[in-house]
Amino acid sequence: MTHKAVEHTTENPAEAADHTAAPAAGSTPKTPLTLLGLGAMGTALGRAWLAAGHPLTVWNCTAARTGALAAEGATVAASAAEAVAANGLVVLCLLDDDSVEQTLADADLTGRDVVNLVTGTPGQARDRAAWAAARGARYLDGGIMAVPPMIGVPEAGAYVFYSGSAELFEQHRATLAAPAAVRWVGEDPGYAALHDVALLSAMYGMFAGAAHAFALIGEEDVTPSSLAPLLADWLAAMAPAVHQTAAQLEAGDYTLGVVSNLGMQVAGVPTFLRTAEEQQVSPELLSPYFELMRRRLEVGSAGEDLVGVVGLLRQ
Ligand code: NDP
Repeated sequence: MTHKAVEHTTENPAEAADHTAAPAAGSTPKTPLTLLGLGAMGTALGRAWLAAGHPLTVWNCTAARTGALAAEGATVAASAAEAVAANGLVVLCLLDDDSVEQTLADADLTGRDVVNLVTGTPGQARDRAAWAAARGARYLDGGIMAVPPMIGVPEAGAYVFYSGSAELFEQHRATLAAPAAVRWVGEDPGYAALHDVALLSAMYGMFAGAAHAFALIGEEDVTPSSLAPLLADWLAAMAPAVHQTAAQLEAGDYTLGVVSNLGMQVAGVPTFLRTAEEQQVSPELLSPYFELMRRRLEVGSAGEDLVGVVGLLRQ
């Protein structure tokens, strides 16, 4: 590697992270950083940091994948440990928590600020924060709300949840905001993962519903491309209902502002199941939710909203 970033590593590399190579006249100094993991997401992040003028050291398990960013100005480290040694700020974009463990096994994290963008559970994030602290590093966890083509494209709406020390987050806010907008969600290092997985879980529910809808039209003279815009508009129109759900949960009043009550909706369930049967579609994606609605009606009241299923899910 060229060691341009290493020249700026001091005894306190975390603080050094906010001071960088001499900028071109008139430009703002950009924090150098290390990025471990150049898969689809890591490469998109690295490209955005390079485009924003950040000196970047990269490492990837399969070395051949470093070529694209090297051609765009990144310094390629020969090992993960060497990459970690290069800069005070170290960002991880590896596959999973196990790959973090394996990758950093031999690295000296003393004085490093580790930002872990690997998708994981809140518990894994909390354990990783303790693991980093025990190795002399400060730690932020992140959850990326974007797909790679949205990274480095401000109008695409990408953002990343961060959690951990507010002070540490503020120190690196400008650097972290280069590839995508940032949202700090709390001192608890598990909160970025909690928000990330909560939103992604809701997304999978939406995809499940859409899969059922496309299956229903299967053999009919209705094309997927004619259904798609109707589906997208309908899902967008229904999405704001989550605000009402939140208000009902916080008020502890499941009848607050109800417009489509549970009794009516449970009465409608056979229509959905019979339609699936007529269209020769398995109800396996919808049935669990209908079952929860039915169970809630048994213990709740017909005048409630659907919010009562939330309590049934909590074990
Ligand atoms: P890819 O599958 O494209 O890349 C995975 C990366 O992890 C590669 O750099 C791979 O190295 C590396 N890796 C896998 N196993 C190991 C290991 N045991 N040791 C060291 N490195 C390893 O995934 P993405 O880049 O898409 O995803 C990276 C992270 O970003 C994941 O946690 C993912 O959940 C998250 N994310 C991804 C999104 C997406 O849409 N792509 C969206 C939001 C979050 P190698 O090249 O050698 O295989």
